[in-house]
Amino acid sequence: MKAVYPGSFDPITLGHVDIIKRALSIFDELVVLVTENPRKKCMFTLEERKKLIEEVLSDLSGVKVDVHHGLLVDYLKKHGIKVLVRGLRAVTDYEYELQMALANKKLYSDLETVFLIASEKFSFISSSLVKEVALYGGDVTEWVPPEVARALNEKLKEGKR
Ligand code: ADP
Repeated sequence: MKAVYPGSFDPITLGHVDIIKRALSIFDELVVLVTENPRKKCMFTLEERKKLIEEVLSDLSGVKVDVHHGLLVDYLKKHGIKVLVRGLRAVTDYEYELQMALANKKLYSDLETVFLIASEKFSFISSSLVKEVALYGGDVTEWVPPEVARALNEKLKEGKR
């Protein structure tokens, strides 16, 4: 069975990677789908995020990375995929995730959203926290893959130029 794990991934963190590995133990194929979230201002472009995720996941099989502009359910219908994977960190995630899952179900009735509970050791990590700490010169190497730590450094240097 095929599933899609959609998100902003701005940038991908070890929390995301954990969800991806666990989803791969449940599903035969997983598409990590980089999407635009109009509620968020992103540091990396969609293509930069896609490339970074591909680098980070290069050793894993059964996973593909793609980008999508527009409505998520359109992508799912086009590719014949009926399962969405999302991660839940804390009760604060629940309200938004519930709203999105119900809205997507209204738009595509065959769709099921599967929630994986974040692992305890990663549950405090978010892309926004990573960006904030990196911006002020803090060490984020325990929260993101090495490729991401390097990309963050580069991006911040670019910003200072
Ligand atoms: P979006 O803008 O779509 O919420 P994110 O990249 O912030 O995109 O998150 C994508 C998904 O990954 C969401 O379901 C989110 O709850 C989940 N997620 C984010 N960080 C973690 C983490 N540290 N552990 C587990 N799941 C996470």
